Amino acid sequence: MRGPYLLRPLQVDIIVPSGVGGVFCLAKNPRKVVFVGRAEQDLRDAIKAYWKQYEFFWFEPALSKRECYINHCYCYHNQMGNGGLDDDTHPAPPEKMDIKCPVCGK
Ligand SMILES: [Zn+2]
Repeated sequence: MRGPYLLRPLQVDIIVPSGVGGVFCLAKNPRKVVFVGRAEQDLRDAIKAYWKQYEFFWFEPALSKRECYINHCYCYHNQMGNGGLDDDTHPAPPEKMDIKCPVCGK
């Protein structure tokens, strides 16, 4: 994960490549991630959508939907074991793809 970076629209445009999918983390305090999400198409737009709710972000681009999902699972389980998340719903696999979570097998 790259970050933390300050979550402001201009910052995101400068730091995050456009048209790339990946996983991102959000926080109000740079030491405690409280949201883990993924964008299959555009990481930049997905992160910017949260700029009023969170102060910091991290991101990791992915080359495929499969890689993106797997990274999402690892981040999710890491953070759940590190104090929990605002939304503790397990990541869902990409549509029409039969992939299991590499951590818990769900
Ligand atoms: Zn899992």
